[in-house]
Amino acid sequence: MEMNTRAVHVVDEPLPPGSRPLSVPLVQSSAFAFESAAELAEAMAGPDGAYVYSRRGNPTVRALEQTLAGLEGGAGAIAFASGMGAVSGVLLALLRPGDRVVAQRCLYGGTHAVLADLAERYGIEVVRISGDDPAEFEAAAVHPATRLLVLETIANPTGQVPDLPGLLAAARALGVVGLVDNSLASPVLCRPLEHGADIVVHSTTKYLSGHSDVLGGAAVFADDALRRRIWPRTVELGACADPFAAWLTLRGIPTLPLRMREHCANAAVLAERFADHPGVSAVHYPWLAGHPSYERAREVLDGGGGLLSFELAGGREAGRAFIEGVRVARLALSLGGVETLVTHPASTSHRELDGAALEAAGIAPGLVRMSVGIEDVEDLWADAEQALGRHPLRASFGLTK
Ligand SMILES: *Cc1c(COP(=O)(O)O)cnc(C)c1O
Repeated sequence: MEMNTRAVHVVDEPLPPGSRPLSVPLVQSSAFAFESAAELAEAMAGPDGAYVYSRRGNPTVRALEQTLAGLEGGAGAIAFASGMGAVSGVLLALLRPGDRVVAQRCLYGGTHAVLADLAERYGIEVVRISGDDPAEFEAAAVHPATRLLVLETIANPTGQVPDLPGLLAAARALGVVGLVDNSLASPVLCRPLEHGADIVVHSTTKYLSGHSDVLGGAAVFADDALRRRIWPRTVELGACADPFAAWLTLRGIPTLPLRMREHCANAAVLAERFADHPGVSAVHYPWLAGHPSYERAREVLDGGGGLLSFELAGGREAGRAFIEGVRVARLALSLGGVETLVTHPASTSHRELDGAALEAAGIAPGLVRMSVGIEDVEDLWADAEQALGRHPLRASFGLTK
């Protein structure tokens, strides 16, 4: 079945006739009752037995896991309390001291931090690569202790799209587990398992739930044996999905393909208009001609995504003025929800850094990140234009509005 159909027909467990709710029921229970010791003992045997205790498994959570596995084309999934729960859970379950991880240089900050922590405290070696060249990966992975390759479908905020087919094929040939964070693309725009990934992780907080009202994460596995092997460790870690959070995420999924279409369409229009604006010196959007990943993004993605970033010629002060000047878009740190959000690293998350330190971190002082929502694009553009007009140096750009 195609994506729209799979997203609507969420996978749910069959119940007896006359007791089949059309929507997935929220089973808000921490534990499940049994009649006999033997039944309870049998249920405790593995990940897919009867429900015992909701950290191990819950009907609402399982419906989410099976739905996500279906959307990604995987054999099974484990839902987590957050995207970082999924990332940390998978890394901790897979890695041992002495292992080598090869990781794309531009990764989500939290993933970067966990890898740095594992390197420092657990003796795991992390080697960084650009993500653009399978030969660079092969050179980094020749070491026999190489265990894992970590990539992101669309990097944030550069919009870099790594060479998923090339790198994942090279990883498979070397027996290295390929892990791809697909949060920014969602399964609507890319299914990394089709390109040879072994594990896909998601922050379901973002596009999958889509309404900025829930935190969640998931790992989807190409091979169910791997899921069954790491499941006990994730149960011990305890970063499990709460049934209500899983239920809210399931509430978002049927409209995911519709939302992604609007996110992509709006972002594509805004990317072009920002690129033509005299106050903007650069636009980073993978489906905009001229982006370094443009050709590859057209190949591996079914849309450019909803995240774009642009650099204001007026630098740090212009960036701050923009994020304080928007009236439709909101100033907030997340992404992937129905509403447009903006942030400006140089005056928020990275405000302690001076010009040189910002440059070393690869962040332009005037860089604004925009998670484009599903509002009417003309309202978004009018809002952006008036916010650009508030720029304190607007006279120097010949802007009079
Ligand atoms: C947000 C995000 C995460 C972390 O997810 P949380 O749900 O915030 O824990 C991981 N990876 C990417 C790419 C993200 O955007």
